[in-house]
Order: sequence, then C-alpha cells, then structure tokens
Amino acid sequence: MASIFTKIIAGEIPSYKIAEDENYYAFLDINPNAKGHTLVIPKREENKIFDLSKDEYDGLMSFSYRVAKALEKTIPCERIGMSVIGLEVPHVHVHLIPIHKMDDMRFISKEKLNQDEFVAIANAVAENFE
Ligand code: 5GP
Repeated sequence: MASIFTKIIAGEIPSYKIAEDENYYAFLDINPNAKGHTLVIPKREENKIFDLSKDEYDGLMSFSYRVAKALEKTIPCERIGMSVIGLEVPHVHVHLIPIHKMDDMRFISKEKLNQDEFVAIANAVAENFE
C-alpha cells in the first residue's frame, strides 16, 4: 500500500510544498516542532534511510542542503536542526527544523499554525530555494 507521503507526491493528499525535482520532494510538516519544520523525501518509497542506494542517499542530502539554505534565509532561528527517525511514517524523510533551543528537536512541543500561516511560510521558503 502506498505511504501517506507517496500520496502527497501524487497530489492525492494536499501538502504545503516547498520544492521538488525529479527524485525529491520537500513540504511542511503538518504538526511542526517549530515554524518552517520541513520534510524532505525521496519520491521512490523506501522505509529506512540506509536502505537507499548510495546515490539516492547522496541526492537526498544534497536536496536537503538546498532546502536548509532556503529555510535559513527565510525563518529567523538559531540554526537548522536535522533528524531522521521514521517510526511514524515508513517512507524515508529528513526533518529540517529551524530551532531556537534543544527542545525544538524533541518532537514534544508543537507549533500551532493555521492554513494561511502554512501557506505564507511555504511560499516564502520556496522563493528562497535555489
Ligand atoms: P517520524 O516518522 O519521523 O516519527 O515523523 C513523521 C512526521 O510526519 C511527523 O512529524 C508528522 O507530523 C508528519 N506527518 C505525518 N502525516 C503527515 C501528513 O499527512 N502531512 C504532512 N505534511 N506531515 C505529516
């Protein structure tokens, strides 16, 4: 069965998209730790990150680098934290989180955003994506 993220890539489930290319897709996490919390995924569905081929892994990191640069330019923060967990959704995803403090990486305190705020953040980051 297709993962929820495969359905997002296919447009069957809406997302606040930031960027995509042939192989990768970046969009805002729906339940963000902090403003700008982004997920970067390979379009090819794979459960665990180290089951990607070396080329796919390198491509994912390279795409994540570009998204992180755009986040840094857009969202005031101390730095961009990066994490890969994947226990909730079995489709590889890199969390990029504009953080202010350690707890922003702990997936406990969540930011409540409305639809307009999600759209504004996604558009602003997308504009800075190079
Ligand atoms: P993990 O699998 O790394 O523990 O976390 C999965 C992440 O995916 C969570 O941060 C969760 O908020 C996010 N997520 C789960 N379902 C959706 C969805 O339908 N849309 C978006 N944008 N994010 C989702």
